[in-house]
Amino acid sequence: MGDKLNKNINSLLEHAQLSDDVERFKDYAEASADWFWESDSDLKITAVLNAPEEIKFVYLTDMAAACHSHTSNEMLKTLETHQKFADFVIHTTNQHGKLQYLRISGKPVLGSKGEFCGYRGVARDVSEVVALNRRVEFLATHDELTGLPNRSQFRQRLEHAITKAERANRQVLLMFFDLDHFKMVNDTLGHDAGDQLLIQAARRITQQVRATDILCRLGGDEFVMIMEGASPQDGHRCVREIIRAFANPFEIQEQRVYCTVSIGVSVYPDDTTDPQAMVVYADLAMYRAKQNGRNDFQFYTSNLNFIAHQWLEMEHGIRQALAENQFFLVYEPQIENITGEVVGIEALLRWRHPERGLIPPLEFIRIAEQSSLIYDIGEFVVESCCRQLRAWLDDGYSVPRMSINISPRHLRSDRLGKLLGSVMAKYNISAHMLCIEITENALLEEAEIVKKNMHMIKDLGLSISLDDFGMGHSSLLYLKRWDVDEVKIDRTFVEGLVDSEDDRAIVRAIVALAHALGLNLVGEGVENQEQVDVLATCGCTVLQGYYFAQSMSSKEISQLLIH
Ligand code: C2E
Ligand code: MG
Ligand code: MG
Repeated sequence: MGDKLNKNINSLLEHAQLSDDVERFKDYAEASADWFWESDSDLKITAVLNAPEEIKFVYLTDMAAACHSHTSNEMLKTLETHQKFADFVIHTTNQHGKLQYLRISGKPVLGSKGEFCGYRGVARDVSEVVALNRRVEFLATHDELTGLPNRSQFRQRLEHAITKAERANRQVLLMFFDLDHFKMVNDTLGHDAGDQLLIQAARRITQQVRATDILCRLGGDEFVMIMEGASPQDGHRCVREIIRAFANPFEIQEQRVYCTVSIGVSVYPDDTTDPQAMVVYADLAMYRAKQNGRNDFQFYTSNLNFIAHQWLEMEHGIRQALAENQFFLVYEPQIENITGEVVGIEALLRWRHPERGLIPPLEFIRIAEQSSLIYDIGEFVVESCCRQLRAWLDDGYSVPRMSINISPRHLRSDRLGKLLGSVMAKYNISAHMLCIEITENALLEEAEIVKKNMHMIKDLGLSISLDDFGMGHSSLLYLKRWDVDEVKIDRTFVEGLVDSEDDRAIVRAIVALAHALGLNLVGEGVENQEQVDVLATCGCTVLQGYYFAQSMSSKEISQLLIH
């Protein structure tokens, strides 16, 4: 009796415990974000509890194709062998059509004889976690500003492309892009404008290439592009199109900004089979394109390594030359042909190198322009010219106007105004005695700073001469817009005057244009009497060149001046 009672009490207690457990688990379930599901032995889903919406899958096996965390086969095998599983991440679309990620775990349910009766398990919406994960992954592999693959991703992709090309016996092109004068846009218009320019530049490049070409941003204004299965000919076509696309101005903060691009290209396997070397070679070629005056492209050639080395040496040499006074000026007189009078003097820079002897300016000015050395050179030239003028004036000479060549890079800096003003004041040189020679190309970019400097030069009262006219993108527009005083007909046209009817026609047109606009004219590089005669009949009478005089020292020039 006592036993039976005990048994009853125990069973009652057990029951109470059980219903207590059920209640407890119900609470847990309600508080949980997990969904609960069951399947039958055919793996058909028979119940879903606590889910905000229906599960779209009919069979558990349907989920395998949408599995992200494992392969479809792994998931299928697990289910078909009735194993326990945890954390399969699958995707589906919710009732609003939005992509949704579910993490699902399950445990087989066995009958009294150990037979498989189905699965029971939980699922959870992990869409936010997956999205977050993807964002982190994206940021680690992409540049946030442009959305392009970043440096680390680029390396992987390049290696991958090369492995593929090796197997398929194909070529891979690597292009290295660097925006010209990007720093200036950043400095003058601000970082937001710089960012805008980078985004637009990236878009412009991608618009010119195939969908399969991979553009990456390495940082700053450097971009690289991997072109798989492309020939060097394709590359030529492509870079030319990109350069053309950059000829149009960018619209940034309601301003038109001109920004060109320099491109270097290396080719697998022609140049190298090593991915890292490909980058170095494309970079070297790009550097070479910059040296060539920017807005240009260059394919890698094996002598570029040598050139890069020379370049560095030259830069070092220029620095030393400035410090050790190896630079000096020579002067070329400008003659009025009818009277024979010296009406002007052009100052030309020379470098007396201790070992290499005289180095002409074209060999080093471009190198100096790549760094701030060009400002130091400009300062040296302006200072030397004004000092020389002052010395002649003090010696009682009647001195004609002196023309100074100013680098386009200097014209784009805000140092020029201060320099001219202060040096003129220092030597008490009046403005009518100086003329600033700039090449047409300096005016191609309609940068605010160029406009400002041009106005400043005019406000100081100096005249402006357009050097090497006819060689660049000459247009009437420039002459009108920039308020220049003088045009110098480029030496190459003068050279062809006697033999080439085309050159004669061009010179006639330039002269007519200059007269119509009321501009002074100078013919440069005159080497013989025939050229003098043709120029004279065209109407150009102020001339300079070896026919009249080679460039001379200040002492020699003073003998031509009226005392
Ligand atoms: P540019 O201003 O057009 O100077 C004319 C060049 O032609 C000079 O070469 C001059 O020596 C040369 N030349 C003059 N007459 C004749 C001739 O009859 N026949 C031939 N074949 N050549 C003649 P240079 O001095 O080597 O200067 C080359 C360029 O370097 C200049 O072209 C100018 O753009 C630049 N440059 C020269 N001095 C300076 C300077 O002080 N500052 C800057 N930024 N550039 C300079
Ligand atoms: Mg000149
Ligand atoms: Mg010239």
